[in-house]
Parts: sequence; structure tokens; C-alpha cells
Amino acid sequence: MLRSVLRGKPQLRKYLSRCRHCRIYFLTDPRNIGRNDLGCPFGCIKADRKERSKSRSTEYYRSDWGRKKKKLLNDRRGKNKQSNESLKEQSGKEEGCYESGEMVVDSETVNYLQGVVSLIEGFRVTEEEILTMLKAKMRQHSMDKGKRIDYIFRYHPGMPP
Ligand SMILES: [Zn+2]
Repeated sequence: MLRSVLRGKPQLRKYLSRCRHCRIYFLTDPRNIGRNDLGCPFGCIKADRKERSKSRSTEYYRSDWGRKKKKLLNDRRGKNKQSNESLKEQSGKEEGCYESGEMVVDSETVNYLQGVVSLIEGFRVTEEEILTMLKAKMRQHSMDKGKRIDYIFRYHPGMPP
């Protein structure tokens, strides 16, 4: 799809970027033109961020105070094992796109689409317009498939990506 867009709009070629992790091509924000250290918005940026916060917390737990705190958390975790497991189930849902007929759209996807559609259309498209477009597309899609899919928009306007 990206290829056909670029054929029709060769001026967008300069926005073409490649993910340094999964090597997928995507259109980037005008601010990032020419960078080759970008992560794609389809999960790699998120993974990057998780990795960074993990190494931060490893450092934190190496400190004496942090170690005590971790032990406290672990003890507590043992006691609340059951509630922890249901928490895990909930967060697992957020990772996948299709899960028991539900589709999760997160703010990263919405932001990416907003950027790309704005580039293609040549004017700034709002988040609301993207959401409206997505909802219409999805309704169409689930009708085509002849089954009902509940789409969940895990999206909070104004939230940083
Ligand atoms: Zn990637």
C-alpha cells in the first residue's frame, strides 16, 4: 500500500523511513527526515521504551534502598497472587490486535495514521477525523466478514504517544 501511495505521490519519498529493528518501511514525521535510527510505530518504539524503562529500573533496584523496596513488593505480590494474575490477563489484552473478536487501537497507531494521512492529503488531519475514519472502516470490515467485532479504542485524546 505504501508503495502505491509513493507512486502516486513521489514527493512523499523523502518521508520514507525504515525501522532499525524490524526493517519495515513507514512514513515518518517531517521532523525526523533523514534519520536512520528510528523505530517503527507498529510496536518497535513501544518495545524501545519498555527496554529503556527496564534498564532504568534495574539500576534502581541495584541500589540498597531499591532492593529493600523490591523485596517488599515481592512479598506483597506473593500474597496477592490471584489479583496479580487477573491483572496480567488484562494487560496481555493490550498487546494483541485481535483478541476474542476485539480490536485494540492504541494512541500510537492513531498518531501514526494522523501523520501519514496528513502527509498524503497535504493538510493537517485531526485525531477526531482519523478516529471517525477508523470506526467507519472497521464497521465496514466486520460487515464484510459477516460477524460482529467489537472494536475497542484504547485511545485518550491529548495523551503523549
Ligand atoms: Zn519496527
